[in-house]
Amino acid sequence: MRGERANALRAASTAHELARGLLTGCAMTSEQASKSGFDEQRPGTPAWAWTVALQDVPRWDLPPGPLTVVAPHPDDETLGAGGVIALAARRGQAVTIVAVTDGEAAPVHMDALAQLRLREQERALEALGAKEAHIVRLELPDGEVTARTDALSTALELLVPPGTTLLAPWRHDGHPDHEACARAAERAAETAGARLYRYPIWAWHHRGPEHLPWPRLRRMDLPDWAAAAKRRAVACYESQLRPPKDPPVVPPHVEAHFHRPFEVFIA
Ligand SMILES: [Zn+2]
Repeated sequence: MRGERANALRAASTAHELARGLLTGCAMTSEQASKSGFDEQRPGTPAWAWTVALQDVPRWDLPPGPLTVVAPHPDDETLGAGGVIALAARRGQAVTIVAVTDGEAAPVHMDALAQLRLREQERALEALGAKEAHIVRLELPDGEVTARTDALSTALELLVPPGTTLLAPWRHDGHPDHEACARAAERAAETAGARLYRYPIWAWHHRGPEHLPWPRLRRMDLPDWAAAAKRRAVACYESQLRPPKDPPVVPPHVEAHFHRPFEVFIA
């Protein structure tokens, strides 16, 4: 591993390549990731390294028209696309959040967890300036979305008018619910004529640059006010960041991936 990384570093001629060289070997291989899932408590790929590696990604801006964000669990919409939600709301674009599950299966011991997470989501959207966002709650069982991919796809087709920009998780994100949402969104976008962009969540933690489809990456630089709004929105998810009796579901080294002054989507 050490020799491999040294070779990559020697070959690097720009900061971009240097970061990719540093990242080589940080993440699990695809095989490890698909076999064992991932462990959010291990250090994973460092956030700073992604920030450098992603600096040359082509810039992207949210097209006009309605925006729909598919959130497998309350927090995914904010972590993956909070900045874009804030921009859409400020520009007066209609924002819909499809809340697929209530997140009741998160490994934390807290009373009425689902209700708590729904309130956190509402507060996060308010922090993003998107209090008026339409939240569609599908109430699928947390952790069991895979078995309901077809039904979810049909629901999304009905919820997404043509010309919508649809943001959904990436199909290689490593969490079964995220990947099921990705497959359903891909099908629905094609049928409904929506523009689909995927947002990684867990992939930033347990994947490395060799796993990303670089030509399809698009980067949205966030104005300072939107980055600040996203920071406040992320902080609303206390149950995931600072549960009183359990290790955090989103530990600081994972949360750090979502405090970049930009968001990255996969076309
Ligand atoms: Zn999630």
